[in-house]
Amino acid sequence: MTKPSNKNAFVASWSYEAAPESTDHIQIKKQYELFINGEFIAPDNGEYFETVNPANHQVISKIAEASATDVDKAVNSADKAFKKWAALPGKERGKFIFRIARLIQERAREFAVIESLDGGKPIRESRDIDIPLAASHFFYYAGWADKLSYAFPNREVKPLGVAGQIIPWNFPLLMAAWKIAPALATGNTVVLKPAETTPLTALKLAEIIKESGLPKGVVNIVTGAGATGAAIVEHPKVNKIAFTGSTGVGKYIQKAIAGTNKKLTLELGGKGANIIFEDAAIDQAVEGIINAIFFNQGHVCCAGSRLLVQESVATLVIEKLKNRINSLVIGDPLDKNTDIGAINSEKQLQTIQEYIKIGIEEGGEIYQPDGPTPKIGNWCRPTLFINVSQSHRIVQEEIFGPVLAIQTFRTIDEVIDKANNTPFGLSAGVWTEKGSKIFYLTQKLKAGVVWANTYNKFDATSPFGGYKESGFGREGGLHGLKSYVKFQ
Ligand code: NAP
Ligand code: MG
Repeated sequence: MTKPSNKNAFVASWSYEAAPESTDHIQIKKQYELFINGEFIAPDNGEYFETVNPANHQVISKIAEASATDVDKAVNSADKAFKKWAALPGKERGKFIFRIARLIQERAREFAVIESLDGGKPIRESRDIDIPLAASHFFYYAGWADKLSYAFPNREVKPLGVAGQIIPWNFPLLMAAWKIAPALATGNTVVLKPAETTPLTALKLAEIIKESGLPKGVVNIVTGAGATGAAIVEHPKVNKIAFTGSTGVGKYIQKAIAGTNKKLTLELGGKGANIIFEDAAIDQAVEGIINAIFFNQGHVCCAGSRLLVQESVATLVIEKLKNRINSLVIGDPLDKNTDIGAINSEKQLQTIQEYIKIGIEEGGEIYQPDGPTPKIGNWCRPTLFINVSQSHRIVQEEIFGPVLAIQTFRTIDEVIDKANNTPFGLSAGVWTEKGSKIFYLTQKLKAGVVWANTYNKFDATSPFGGYKESGFGREGGLHGLKSYVKFQ
């Protein structure tokens, strides 16, 4: 490992006084049940699992584990609710969705703290990004509910029926909003399964849904592990599967529903290329690189996990990056100064550590800041790998952690080849002062989203999704409605 010079020593530990967000306004129950047919009910087999705080390993709550019998109950309740819900005028459906959005806003602080407690992300991010964006997805799709004839002019659309929705742990409430809001706007009913390590905000959302007066059975939330997800996928009364998660599970789902009438959207993994040209505003680009890979500890499907920097500015950019990561604050997710929170689970930490080992064994040059990390909890220092090439596993495979693989390029054709040489196709970033270069690259890069002179910008009105092994179908924006309707 390259040791930082004294000049670069990890200074964050003394830079700021602790400023933790208060938890005294937060209500978390000791035990959570399944949300089926508008009620919280105990699981059929009486089994529960624990959700822990990844920053201190303390158990937060016990969570019901839904069996196939519970999933069957949830799907039947969604199926029963479908006819009436679909028949409601769009304006009425919109009112419920709007109400859910307002309730999320009203309880935004509570949601933000619980998201950070359960998943380990910095409070700054859950407060300023996850929760406001989740509310904005509900607001946005509330607006579409009575305007579907404008969304699809001259075409009559019908809802699909019961949507089975399975989401990951990196943006728990936001992913729930991405899935539930367009499904409701178009008149579908829902069975949603949050990830095992981050079920709490989805269950809080269930409380809000109940409070909103949404008709019973329109949204059902079942907690559990992979088997619960599989039971949703395989249920014959489910008409659509919307899945966000790993490419491996996505492939299993595609096989499992082959030969059925189920519609499918898959939002899977990524290995985004962040491309820095010599004419870029270098200091801004460095901030962009940091945001692209270290936002949410790198647990981001569209993370800029590959940096492609033009050779003429590579030394400068790498030096600035090393300096910058020395000042990133690692620690308590509830502290407002924290830049890098806890890794979501011990399992994910092991995966990341394994990849760091592989990167070193493959001959990459590692750089990590020194300095303390908390004694208990799942922590990973921001990590740079220099001198890596296309064939390295850390360049090809998704690590889903704060690890950046840095490569250089000389020409525009070379960088396009390198950026596209991956099984994934979710995101990319381009940094240059030249507009024509931006337009040229955005056409050539095989990625669902290409950001120019920025990174990780999200908006409810904008579609998001991938090519190749990053999946298919789009969520967000007008495109997001399309996945939940059939054309007459
Ligand atoms: P994962 O293991 O695929 O899990 C995703 C969800 O599927 C979880 O709720 C999981 O339950 C469930 N699941 C697991 N096995 C299943 C099965 N056999 N059948 C049905 N459901 C099953 O992925 P993850 O590790 O939680 O999430 C990280 C991945 O998600 C990364 O690859 C990332 O790139 C991707 N992601 C993509 C996007 C996008 O929009 N493209 C957004 C965010 C994340 P458990 O929690 O109990 O395992
Ligand atoms: Mg947890």
